[in-house]
Amino acid sequence: MPYQNSLDFARQLDAQDPLRAFRSQFLIPKGPDGQPCTYVCGNSLGLQPTSARAAVEAEFAAWEEHGVEGHFRGTAWMHYHDTLTEATARLVGAKPVEVVVMNSLSVNLHLLLISFYRPTATRYKLLMEGGAFPSDQYAAASQAKLHGLNPDEAVVELVPRPGEHTLRTEDIEAKIQELGDSLALVMLGGVNYYTGQAFDMAAVTRAGHAVGATVGFDLAHAAGNLLLHLHDWDVDFACWCTYKYLNSGPGGTSGVFVHERFANRPDLPRLAGWWGHDPSDRFQMKKEFRPMPGAAGWQLSNAQVFPMAIHKASLAIFDEAGGMPALRQKSEQLTGYLEWLLRELNLPADELEIITPADPAQRGCQLSLLLRRRGRALFEHFAARGIMADWREPNVIRLSPVPLYNSFEDVWRIGQAVAEWGQLPV
Ligand SMILES: *Cc1c(COP(=O)(O)O)cnc(C)c1O
Repeated sequence: MPYQNSLDFARQLDAQDPLRAFRSQFLIPKGPDGQPCTYVCGNSLGLQPTSARAAVEAEFAAWEEHGVEGHFRGTAWMHYHDTLTEATARLVGAKPVEVVVMNSLSVNLHLLLISFYRPTATRYKLLMEGGAFPSDQYAAASQAKLHGLNPDEAVVELVPRPGEHTLRTEDIEAKIQELGDSLALVMLGGVNYYTGQAFDMAAVTRAGHAVGATVGFDLAHAAGNLLLHLHDWDVDFACWCTYKYLNSGPGGTSGVFVHERFANRPDLPRLAGWWGHDPSDRFQMKKEFRPMPGAAGWQLSNAQVFPMAIHKASLAIFDEAGGMPALRQKSEQLTGYLEWLLRELNLPADELEIITPADPAQRGCQLSLLLRRRGRALFEHFAARGIMADWREPNVIRLSPVPLYNSFEDVWRIGQAVAEWGQLPV
């Protein structure tokens, strides 16, 4: 359907949207006029599901009622993480044995790097995208140092061609081939947090494996955003946070994927904790560590029930909505409409440039606007109009309409606000 720039048209799209009812399952912060704001920060912190509070309160009640016996009674905290496994596997295209929910993201990234970045004298390079999220840069550099390597030599960064903002798949593949036998690990974001570029994870994984390297992804901006097929893509490992597109609350828990081929590899070096130990004799408190099969064998600590209760409530909404295929379909339309509205304004590129790829296959919800001149003014104009967007230094605004709770009307309002800003006297 060709798009139109009118409130009526946006409302017509909303009326036809099979997912429109899900908006009422989220608590939307109020704007300056006391009305729900236009929230397009789901890439940074997803909104609170209305079901989250009761889910946490149920665990408070279980704690009150059972004390320590809550580990075995009620929801049985002892097995709490297991209750997230099936939904998590569906979300990322994995087998249940390949996923576990635990810890938080940067911690999990380190745990996985300990196992999957095993540099040798000749094969020691770690390839990542330039301008990766700082935590990922620090993780890579500190892991290189942990192995006695100089990060400036060991960590190789991919940079876009001159005049371009994002990476071409063929350039990533060429770099992998060039590094060849020296490449130990490829570790990219599934979606780059700054540009919103989604990488071709299947192609990158193939290229990495072809030269004998391991391939892992940080899916912080991809989980709950893109259709993922981690198992079929043959990805070695991945991890993600749950507070962005997965709406599971600030500092929420994190998900981990380890491919099935490593499920029965107790020999893989890892940092061990009692919760990764075979549960059949975990409580014998014996000396020798025997990891559980699969991703669960990377667990260290007993389950963080409170953040996990929120995550469980949130994952149930993803399933209820028909999972990622249904969400992704709406997402492409929502973001496509936003892009169309912005392009229709015909603003000069030195005023506003969308640096996120135009190809829907190379992006998720997010559009990143590069604002070379009056970015702050646009950000403030948004705030005054009740649009909660996100500012990234030095001059980027990220807008992420998400299919669970954003509407086409939200997107139309953003287009209006940008049009007004475009006409403001410079
Ligand atoms: C959001 C994000 C993080 C944040 O890490 P935490 O450990 O959850 O604080 C790390 N890496 C990437 C790529 C992110 O987008």
